[in-house]
Amino acid sequence: MSDCPVCGTVVEAHTETYVSPYNKQEYKKYECPTCDVHWWEPLKIIPEFYEDEVFEGYIGFHEGMRLRIGKNHEAFFKNFPGNLKGRLLDVGCGDGVFLKEAQRHGFEVWGIDFDKKSVEVAKRSLGVETVYAMSLEEFYRFAKEKGLKFDVITFFEVLEHQDSPMEFLRMVKELLKDSGYIAGSVPNRERLFAKTVDWKYFHWDYPPHHFLRFSDMALKNTLEKAGFNNVEVIKTDFLRRELYPYIEKKLFGNLDRLKVWLKGKAVGNEHLARAVAVEDLERVSNSKSAYALKILKKTRNLLLFPLTIFYLPKLKGNGINLYFQGVR
Ligand SMILES: [Zn+2]
Repeated sequence: MSDCPVCGTVVEAHTETYVSPYNKQEYKKYECPTCDVHWWEPLKIIPEFYEDEVFEGYIGFHEGMRLRIGKNHEAFFKNFPGNLKGRLLDVGCGDGVFLKEAQRHGFEVWGIDFDKKSVEVAKRSLGVETVYAMSLEEFYRFAKEKGLKFDVITFFEVLEHQDSPMEFLRMVKELLKDSGYIAGSVPNRERLFAKTVDWKYFHWDYPPHHFLRFSDMALKNTLEKAGFNNVEVIKTDFLRRELYPYIEKKLFGNLDRLKVWLKGKAVGNEHLARAVAVEDLERVSNSKSAYALKILKKTRNLLLFPLTIFYLPKLKGNGINLYFQGVR
């Protein structure tokens, strides 16, 4: 039995169990019939996971290697009211790749992240001091003392990590000016391959990393329950070029260890190799093998290309992220 962390509905039975390969903990998934949010028990954040580079994505942050903004960030610049400017806080800003773009669009940028190394990378890249290695709770107290308020607060791929989502959203709301905006994204639990390839091979959308799972309806309900108005949720599309690793896994199983080993040879550093896409290898290595790997990847894509046709009717609205925005 567990209480829904969003609306409080008591749910009797869990629907799924999952044992994390990272901490060997067994988690139980519950589904709320009232607000449609799914969550995992025990619902408890483990902060050490973020600094220990357990997840490969964070290595990229630390090395300052994440070179482009994501689809979820692009949705912000596409959908956000263009006339809005002012003070923007990005919660979970990582290496500041989104803030960099927001700065270009004229926002006064502020950021927080758990991770000290990422914060240092972000400060350097933005040339500002207003990025802090703090939790939202710590920043909330800091901002209250200083009387700081924000025009926009963004949180991309952050809400699904929370063990107390309503408390998180309450603090966000209180840090906003009247009629201030929120925007961000969460993983779409109904995305293509979520129940097949992701379930079998990828652990990024599971606890102790992610505790909450949203559909577009669940996300809208959550933000409205927290008191936000004019909430819009946009289902991003799955990109045709993102199909390749999934089709590869469906056909050949998991080749990741082989791939990391090959990239490690090319970069001369396996740790870094985990975080760098083949397309970016040449930026960190001049070796001929970086070029050879690029050719190898292109060949794979060429061979798998005919198979992508079967998935074309399924791409619309089944992308990895749900983008949201709303008003205080
Ligand atoms: Zn609920």
